[in-house]
Amino acid sequence: MNLLKTKSYINGKWVIGNAKLKVINPFDGTLVAEVESLSRSQCKDAIQAASDAFKIWKKYAAHERAAILRKWYELQMEHAEELAHILTLEQGKPLAEALGEIKYGASFVEWFSEEARRVYGDIIPGHHRDKRITAIKQPVGVVAAITPWNFPNAMITRKVAPALAAGCTVVIKPAELTPLSALALAELADRAGFPPGVVNILVSKDASEIGKEMCENRLVRKLSFTGSTRVGKILLKQCADTVKKVSMELGGNAPFIVFDDADIDLAIQGAIASKYRNAGQTCVCTNRLFVQEGVYEAFLAKYTVAVKELTIGNGVKEGVVIGPMIEEKAVISVEKVVADAVKKGGELLTGGKRHGATGSLLFEPTVIANANRKMLAFKEEIFGPVTPIFKFKTEAEVIELANDTPYGLASYFYGRDYARIWRIAEALEYGMVGINTGMISTAVAPFGGIKESGFGREGSKYGMDDYLEIKYMCWGGVE
Ligand code: ADP
Repeated sequence: MNLLKTKSYINGKWVIGNAKLKVINPFDGTLVAEVESLSRSQCKDAIQAASDAFKIWKKYAAHERAAILRKWYELQMEHAEELAHILTLEQGKPLAEALGEIKYGASFVEWFSEEARRVYGDIIPGHHRDKRITAIKQPVGVVAAITPWNFPNAMITRKVAPALAAGCTVVIKPAELTPLSALALAELADRAGFPPGVVNILVSKDASEIGKEMCENRLVRKLSFTGSTRVGKILLKQCADTVKKVSMELGGNAPFIVFDDADIDLAIQGAIASKYRNAGQTCVCTNRLFVQEGVYEAFLAKYTVAVKELTIGNGVKEGVVIGPMIEEKAVISVEKVVADAVKKGGELLTGGKRHGATGSLLFEPTVIANANRKMLAFKEEIFGPVTPIFKFKTEAEVIELANDTPYGLASYFYGRDYARIWRIAEALEYGMVGINTGMISTAVAPFGGIKESGFGREGSKYGMDDYLEIKYMCWGGVE
């Protein structure tokens, strides 16, 4: 495989570190590759390189930056199959889903290659007769990005493409469990022709030291993070001393509500797509499924049948729709959620345990009926293939239940009454609402959360704002 790289990419060169990091296939525990692990001082060097490159890159005309981004996009599409294969080997998601992620990831690069040309400012009527006011937008500078293992490709492009389009340079630290997809993107960035230092991708097993360097280094003007709320809070605190601009895309606890007047078959399709994608390991996965009492029994019966049909296994095999979970810790955490639910009155309708031999990271797709708010499944992000189903009576009751969480990322509901659709969509305290759909992610829409799910938006025209500063110029003496 041409795109399988094991060194980090800094200042246009492939660099070795002082240690190694093993990348393990979560399906069978085999070694996929040994990757160089870099140190904090090498991260400092990468930031310096990005800072030097910023002086050049910010002066490129927008269409010049756009052309290189476009080339990067085309290379990603050309090598989509190989990128997907690498992704499945290190992350476990089924190949078809991995290919979907590669195309989704590339679509951010395409979109922001186009948006690069549309960073407009304003001319504002002056406040005195001799005054004129203009506002321009400028790139913030060096951007540091820390990304998770659940979307090893798309979480990088979603941050890096708008940053580069805006004229920023970037230093990226991918998750240590899935560095290969990131390094493959670095190889393609190199081929696309970004000047040295504009894109830097650094792998390290010492996440906290790299994180400290990124937060404390004054040359970094912006930190963009996707990952757990726990780590997000650490990074926010660390960024305080240098007063950095930050974007945080953190955990979720998505409600999925089915009203009596919903199209039940479509709601089931939507719930399964939202819940079981990536074996339940996405921050927008349905966490709590609320079904109104009139359709509760019918929904349960059909939903359970549909979940039983999901094929679980090795992601590279045709027809598999649920791959392994990422690591042992993740399986243990899901087992805990299931045991807690059963202990607190939940009724296990299917699944509930590890699939196959001891040590397997496959977890059976699980449905638990009769769920209640005392359960961990109500309060915590499950991050696994488990659906707890709650029964509710009224609109007011379900809104209160849905909003009873510190999180505010994705939410979903199914129903037909258009006045209620507006009421519910407005009442849900979430950054995103899927209405009669379980799939909401696209490069053209603003992705992001509120409350402890974070702030900042990724994708869409709004996605550029996170990488731009507004400068206001006051022109006096214009008589
Ligand atoms: P997840 O629960 O999805 O693994 P994490 O928040 O632990 O989420 O990880 C997301 C990213 O944050 C990964 O790249 C990981 O290496 C990184 N990370 C974890 N701990 C720290 C830390 N203390 N400082 C900086 N980055 C960290």
